[in-house]
Amino acid sequence: MSADETFGRRRRRGETHADERLRDVPEDLWETCPKCREAIYRKELERNLRVCPKCGFHLRLKCYERIAITADEGSFREFEMSAAPYNPLGFPEYDGKIAGDRKATGLSEAVVAGGCTIEGTPTVMAVMDMSFRGGSMGYEVGERVARAAEAALERRWPLIIFAASGGARMQESLISLMQMAKTSAALGRLDSAGLSYITVVTDMTYAGVLASFTSLGDVILAEPGAAMGFTGPRVIEITLRIRLPHEVQTSEFHHEHGMIDAIVERKDMRSTLARVLRWCTGAAARDSVLARAAHVEDTHEQ
Ligand SMILES: [Zn+2]
Repeated sequence: MSADETFGRRRRRGETHADERLRDVPEDLWETCPKCREAIYRKELERNLRVCPKCGFHLRLKCYERIAITADEGSFREFEMSAAPYNPLGFPEYDGKIAGDRKATGLSEAVVAGGCTIEGTPTVMAVMDMSFRGGSMGYEVGERVARAAEAALERRWPLIIFAASGGARMQESLISLMQMAKTSAALGRLDSAGLSYITVVTDMTYAGVLASFTSLGDVILAEPGAAMGFTGPRVIEITLRIRLPHEVQTSEFHHEHGMIDAIVERKDMRSTLARVLRWCTGAAARDSVLARAAHVEDTHEQ
């Protein structure tokens, strides 16, 4: 009998010592870091904005958690969006899956949009959530992103989108793919009006969502270690029979190759967005002119 069996348990196939220890840990108190597999006290993880204190991995956030750490406290006003069931192709079991995700997440779809201020600058913000249908984009997600762009246009505010998605929603087929064109057209109108659009790539951002509105940002930021790409590594392996090195589909790789403007740690994201918003809206330039004018006045008085 092995030592493991003596203690009433046997390490399962492919399981590490850390995995084995975690089997006995109460789930509500501890969470496993998906990268280093260490158990982290959940409260410590939350204090650390859900960034692993051991390896720095940025764990996924739910959309309202993201809004809470980004918008000025109490400033977020969610736009009213349709929550009507939508199954244009009558895809089997799709209605039940949507109903199940609604119940499990408390969300009506995979994106939430609204108006808020960030360090005082008004902005429209849309945040995607991987926990609802893997953040996939069907008609309703596309509609909400396009409406967020229209709301920004109407108010003449900048727009920020936090992307997190496995891609287009297969149950809506071509209607999902049409959202790529719809969101891009809405953002084109924002661009023609001279308004700024900032995207933030978070873990994970793939396929139709990356290839449409996420890539169109005037400024594209990303969290460290976010998986991103057009086709996922599993599909590439099955169809092309090649295995890409892991680092090819990370935000760092895309930053090195010019697709991402900056990698920003979660603790710095709010202040970075605030700074970018001030540049984009001209507030930074106005402040600088006023500061210089005040300096000139002071010099004259002396
Ligand atoms: Zn870790």
